[in-house]
Amino acid sequence: MSEVMTRPDYPVSDCLREERMPHIWCPGCGTGTVLNCFLNAVVKSGIDLDKLAVVSGIGCAGRAAGYIKVDSFHTTHGRAIPFATGLKLAKPELKVVIFSGDGDLIAIGGNHLIHAARRNIDITVICVNNFNYGMTGGQMGPTTPLTARTSTSPLGNTEQPFNVPHLAATCGAVYVARWTSLHVRPLERTMMEALNKKGFSFVEVITPCPTLYGRNNKQPSGLDQMRYYKEMSVIQNGADPKDVGIDLGGKIIVGKFVDIERPTFTELQEEALKRAGKQ
Ligand code: SF4
Repeated sequence: MSEVMTRPDYPVSDCLREERMPHIWCPGCGTGTVLNCFLNAVVKSGIDLDKLAVVSGIGCAGRAAGYIKVDSFHTTHGRAIPFATGLKLAKPELKVVIFSGDGDLIAIGGNHLIHAARRNIDITVICVNNFNYGMTGGQMGPTTPLTARTSTSPLGNTEQPFNVPHLAATCGAVYVARWTSLHVRPLERTMMEALNKKGFSFVEVITPCPTLYGRNNKQPSGLDQMRYYKEMSVIQNGADPKDVGIDLGGKIIVGKFVDIERPTFTELQEEALKRAGKQ
């Protein structure tokens, strides 16, 4: 791997901390694929790396911030969005991206997610959803499908999971999309769009965790999970987010679901200052 990483023509070399390789992710884990798509999207978007900041929370996906060679911040559990919000408000010229997992963003950080979407803070969230808490032992989380087995739901999950795109959309996100880590090209294009979108953009990426979630649900290898994504994914751009919930063994609806315009938090603040004659 290091030979590939050090090739001068490796397209994402400029934004990867190669000295930190090899990464910590398990064989077959999808998080590295999502990170690669993100870095390619960054390179192809032509974003000034000095104007890009990446924030992660805690968890397997949260480790990504440490591998990205821009100003990146590995923050506390569930607090990536408030950290990113502060960063964006203090330095509005920055493109601020959150790269983190479903446990971090939707469970402990869920309250921050809904309010950042409501306020339309101008940030991009990439949510790596592997349906469980990977780093801490494969516990059930807020996206675990009903009846799925995890280390804390050995008889099958009995809690209704969040439909993540619906959650983001109903709270006010102006851009909402979902792909799996199998869909590398559309995922990369979606990330480029999300990076260029003004306002709160949200990209969910369904991603294998063979070591824990997969092993507990009869898909013990990354390849098993990728085959499953190939078989079960249905592209439905424009689908109503309320209809894209995920059931164990059911279809995975992917595509771009929301792309709308509304004023950002910063724009509304500027208007208020103008009205008050302070700008
Ligand atoms: Fe990936 Fe799961 Fe391993 Fe974490 S535990 S690195 S999510 S495969």
